[in-house]
Amino acid sequence: MAAEDRLRKYRGKRDFERTREPSGQAAGDVGEEPRFVVQIHDARRMHFDFRLEVDGVLKSWSIPKGPSTDPGDKRLAVPTEDHPLDYENFEGVIPPGEYGGGTVIVWDHGTYEPLSHDRRGRPVDFAESLERGHATFRLHGRKLHGEYALTRFRSGDDEEAWLLVRKGPARSDRHGTPDPRRARSVRTGRTLAQVAAAGDG
Ligand code: MN
Repeated sequence: MAAEDRLRKYRGKRDFERTREPSGQAAGDVGEEPRFVVQIHDARRMHFDFRLEVDGVLKSWSIPKGPSTDPGDKRLAVPTEDHPLDYENFEGVIPPGEYGGGTVIVWDHGTYEPLSHDRRGRPVDFAESLERGHATFRLHGRKLHGEYALTRFRSGDDEEAWLLVRKGPARSDRHGTPDPRRARSVRTGRTLAQVAAAGDG
């Protein structure tokens, strides 16, 4: 499916006269290595948005507690609609009453290496591995580094649920996830409160 078609759901939820989020009309940068971004979104409920560039869109999951660097943590990740590539740079305030109304900061971004393989260890197309419900990848971010797995454990249109887990030996690291209210933007160094106070982005 063309990226344009896959963004229909994203566009249908938003009024671009009112929100400064990107409409996805711009092509976005397609680099050599696929990109990832983690945003912190202080909406009705605080959550992290985890997005991976796949075939011209950002595949997206909402992670209430955020990605953890501790392999002992299994983090619930609920899929959300595909986002345009230039959403990676969105930081600012979505007006109250609009879809996702609240403040967004870009907490981390970078590239990732697809690592998905089958049971015999042969590489599998990354998009296909996501469709099948199990994908592995190595993040090269400013804050997140190393291998992670996303695994679907429940299917169904409105109740699909995944887990995001750091791979590797368990660590005694008790600080696997930042406090979202203290965390700072990787782009501008600002907290959610500072972005909210600035009112724009
Ligand atoms: Mn969100």
